[in-house]
Amino acid sequence: MTGKTHIMGGVASCTAVAYFYGYDPVFMTASGVLGALIPDICHTKSKIGRKLPILSTLVSSIFGHRTFTHSLLFLLLTAFAAHLYFANQSILVGLMAGMASHLLLDAGTTNGIKLFFPSSIRIRLPLYIKTGGKAEQGVMAALTILSCYFIAVLMA
Ligand SMILES: [Zn+2]
Repeated sequence: MTGKTHIMGGVASCTAVAYFYGYDPVFMTASGVLGALIPDICHTKSKIGRKLPILSTLVSSIFGHRTFTHSLLFLLLTAFAAHLYFANQSILVGLMAGMASHLLLDAGTTNGIKLFFPSSIRIRLPLYIKTGGKAEQGVMAALTILSCYFIAVLMA
């Protein structure tokens, strides 16, 4: 999926989790958007890859696209590292929810993800779409509507 869709995925997942579990929606969503962009550090042309070109080139050349950074292993390592730096639970949960939303959305694309890296098994949802295609616009619209709904109920 594209960066914009991942951002909306981060917002939708974080506002939903904040609503259901009572976390701070502002901290959660801010860290969730960052979390939703982090896995694509493996892609030099991604939003985060363009901001951190040296790190992105390094990660891309070592692991390739949608492998390590799109795995449960990376999710757990990031959770552990973030736990050392952030005491705020809303930031931690937001970061993880955003990253999890990224993995779920990319698992719904033609190429899927290597969720169990270093295993080479590719995981793809039964329903999948082409990244950047017209169907992705529909996914982004649905995520935007979902985000608006949860923002509205959080403010009520
Ligand atoms: Zn990705």
